[in-house]
Amino acid sequence: MANTSVSIPSSGYVGRLAPSPTGALHLGNVRTFAVAWLRARSCGGKVILRMEDLDHPRDKPGAAAQALDDLRWLGFDWDEEHVQSERRPFYRATLAKLPAYPCVCSRRDVESAQSAPHAGEQLFYPGTCRDRFKDWDDAAAACAPRLPCWRFRVPRGATVRFTDTFVGPVEQDISATLGDFPLARDRDGAGYTLAATADDLAMGVTEVVRGDDLLPATPPQILIARSLGREPPTATFPSSSAPTAAASRSATATRASGRSARPASHPRRSSDGSPPPADGTQKTGRPALQG
Ligand SMILES: [Zn+2]
Repeated sequence: MANTSVSIPSSGYVGRLAPSPTGALHLGNVRTFAVAWLRARSCGGKVILRMEDLDHPRDKPGAAAQALDDLRWLGFDWDEEHVQSERRPFYRATLAKLPAYPCVCSRRDVESAQSAPHAGEQLFYPGTCRDRFKDWDDAAAACAPRLPCWRFRVPRGATVRFTDTFVGPVEQDISATLGDFPLARDRDGAGYTLAATADDLAMGVTEVVRGDDLLPATPPQILIARSLGREPPTATFPSSSAPTAAASRSATATRASGRSARPASHPRRSSDGSPPPADGTQKTGRPALQG
């Protein structure tokens, strides 16, 4: 049985609620937020509200204000409020500190490089553009009128291990299962993985509570944090059977339930009673990430 008690750092507990304005809140969001809020308030901790509104094509007008109204109506409160779309210069500065390189591959290019594509999985990126371009402008000239993206140069054999409060030990060899993952969609942009990691560190978040469909997004975030010389917050994934905003942001849930580096063939979002592997370690496969 996992130890699910709240661990309080000497600096104090800081939790966060991170809605996305892509539609109305639903039960899955509220469930995750309730766990996050209760864990923070139960130990006198701080709650940060962060509107994750970088996904412009999917953001709906008015949804951010509606989400805040709904959360207040439900009785949530928070001590700080941040809006990601107002923090782009910070993400740009963070990107500049990371081992990133421009990539001109289209999704189709990456798909056709898969040795064994599996429906619903995040693509493995084999590093095609690793040492291909001297800088962003060089890459942009090669793929105009499209724009390159930035990818994180994952060290070979980079295995990330962490212990989740509910799930237990998790490990992933990112270089073998995901490859160089995307950080930003264009020169100065920031994708979800980069922005959420940078914000959690800057805002002093000590524990992240979210839907366990986002479990596979955590190892890359840990890699980013460590690359910045920081330790990421503790991750907590109280299982949820309801879809969450985060779930809709991620194409699939890929927590693997076996010893293989491959994800489970059917996404698992619920505590469905499946036995854990013999060593109790969850291995994540090719995670679903938003660039
Ligand atoms: Zn590429």
